[in-house]
Amino acid sequence: MFKKVLIANRGEIALRVIAACKELGIRTVAVYSEIDRGSLHVQMADEALCIGPAKSADSYLNIPAVISAAEITDAEAIHPGYGFLSENPSFAEVCQMSGIAFIGPRPEVIRLMGEKAEARRAMKKAGLPVLPGSDGLVKTEEEARAAACAIGYPVIIKAAAGGGGRGMRTVREPAELLTLYHQAQHEAAVSFHSPDVYLEKYIDRPRHIEFQVLGDNEGNVVVLGVRECSIQRRHQKLIEESPSPRMDAATRAEMSERVANALRATGYSNAGTVEFLMDQEGRLFFIEMNTRIQVEHPVTEMVTGVDLVKAQILIAGGEPLSALVSEPVELRGHAIECRINAENPQTFAPSAGRITKFHAPGLVGIRVDTAAHADCVIPPYYDSLVAKLIAHGRDRTEAITRIERALDMFVVEGILTSIPMHQRIIADPDFLLGNFDTSYVQKFVPEQKVVAGK
Ligand code: ADP
Repeated sequence: MFKKVLIANRGEIALRVIAACKELGIRTVAVYSEIDRGSLHVQMADEALCIGPAKSADSYLNIPAVISAAEITDAEAIHPGYGFLSENPSFAEVCQMSGIAFIGPRPEVIRLMGEKAEARRAMKKAGLPVLPGSDGLVKTEEEARAAACAIGYPVIIKAAAGGGGRGMRTVREPAELLTLYHQAQHEAAVSFHSPDVYLEKYIDRPRHIEFQVLGDNEGNVVVLGVRECSIQRRHQKLIEESPSPRMDAATRAEMSERVANALRATGYSNAGTVEFLMDQEGRLFFIEMNTRIQVEHPVTEMVTGVDLVKAQILIAGGEPLSALVSEPVELRGHAIECRINAENPQTFAPSAGRITKFHAPGLVGIRVDTAAHADCVIPPYYDSLVAKLIAHGRDRTEAITRIERALDMFVVEGILTSIPMHQRIIADPDFLLGNFDTSYVQKFVPEQKVVAGK
């Protein structure tokens, strides 16, 4: 097993990885930008190196700086966390060439899944249901027209290299197509350095359902249940839970088997998430795969008892899946996560600044993943996540009761947070009944357009 791991990330996920390494007896190296000098991940790692200025392009995304830090400190492996370099196949390749283990899947698989149009094609071939869509990229106006016509309106235009809900446009009728096509291309070029887009059938009021997978280096793959992530704003998740209140155990088992088979066929290893949309008839369609640990991984950990981050490290070190997960995977109770973001709860505009007062509740069945504390600064340079509040209960009702209590006792002062929005959602009868879809949050902000087509 590795003796030393470098964590190429910051915030709560860096602390999460440091904790997993400590439990495994592995020494840790933190890297940080100049503005993060006083951060907890810097304090809690065994060693820490500054890798550049605050702007992520100059620090957390700076491949030569990260690799040099690993070489200087003799780290044998790099955990990329989520975001930043976690889904960058070139980074995984550079690690490989430098003799450093990348804690994640092989670069070819990261590359395949990162090209969303290609991933659709590969998963369809591997037996998963995909939405009707263009056959690969749509390069010209004529191709856009022909694809939209063949799919049938409404359609959604998506950035092939997309992520974080950006670069998407919903097209309800032919007259809007070309304007939105060019807008999507432009946004894709600006956000992802590639104007490539593809088309897919737009599903009205879908639910977002995803499968957590783990694969080892010997070709074994296991699915660790599902998460429902339909409570979103601007196509970004706000509340996640496991299992889904809408999917019965038989469907879950059948789809888990199909997902595991599809990933075996692609030679998938390490942690990953296969995302689907569920239409109003309950049919599931693959939309994309994330080849890294997800923000919402704790809800799966709570119901399966599997430490996913430890599993990632052990798999990268050559452990077989059979030593980490006992099958069949048993799911225990229900877990819900609220993402506490530094943002205006009504407009979702980021609210960076100094936290003056901070209290995270420690209650039965409650877990808080955070790197925030009183007097820390949430910088404007990175994502707005302040803390993840996770509740586990015997059933969904108990998990909801617990998270409601914990939200009431969570204190963050000095910045605006999403806590008031979470309190409204958790108390809403439709949420309690599990009656929601990806457009649900809109009802709390009627003046805002938060669904596709923003
Ligand atoms: P990203 O990689 O940017 O997160 P995804 O493909 O995962 O993009 O989609 C994010 C969200 O956008 C979904 O959870 C859903 O709310 C919405 N969405 C994506 N594709 C469709 C579609 N075909 N129909 C309706 N909504 C969609």
